[in-house]
Amino acid sequence: MRTTQWVMALLWLISGPAAAQVVTQLPRADKVVALTFDGCEAPGQPAWLDRGIVDVLTQQSLPYTIFATGLFAQRNKDELARLAASPLVEIENHSMTHPQHMERLSKDAVEKQVADADAVIEAVTGHRPTFFRFPAGNYDAASLAEVEATGHRVIHWRVPSGDPGKGVTAEHLAQWVLLNAKPGDILIFHINGRAPETAAALPAIIAGLKAKGFRFIRLDQGL
Ligand SMILES: [Zn+2]
Repeated sequence: MRTTQWVMALLWLISGPAAAQVVTQLPRADKVVALTFDGCEAPGQPAWLDRGIVDVLTQQSLPYTIFATGLFAQRNKDELARLAASPLVEIENHSMTHPQHMERLSKDAVEKQVADADAVIEAVTGHRPTFFRFPAGNYDAASLAEVEATGHRVIHWRVPSGDPGKGVTAEHLAQWVLLNAKPGDILIFHINGRAPETAAALPAIIAGLKAKGFRFIRLDQGL
């Protein structure tokens, strides 16, 4: 083997082949977090954009990302179109119909979930999604590779806020998030009306994170 081949082989050993990977934290050591909000809607479960959350984020001029299903984007198209006009707001792909277990779908069905949602979101917002989040966070190696092959990076989280949980209060939600937030975290909440305390908790979460020295960035700024 020639020297250059040895070097190439060594580099491959060090870096490995490009492996499918779910992003659960931004690769940054400084005190930044990304706010993300899931707009989930499955067939027969109409869901509307939580205006209380939007109002808090808009008043404070904070950047954030909505992971919308295609169904949610269709139902809330006027408001999402308005939000998407702001450079602070990204609207990304959370599948077309929110199947709870995409790892049980065929390759064709996975690709269709991604492509259909892309088409709806692009029609509504004028922006083609580049990020994807699996419904309910469920995936396996095959479904992950299939989604990545569509050109999307898969973005999850390290610690969930648990904001759709039963009996969650705004106070406890804020305490939980402030206790757990670390530099580079991707914070996950819900903006589809299924997390009724999130809007009330956000001012304390934002103020608390700022007091700890955190800044807020968009996902694409952190990756
Ligand atoms: Zn969801």
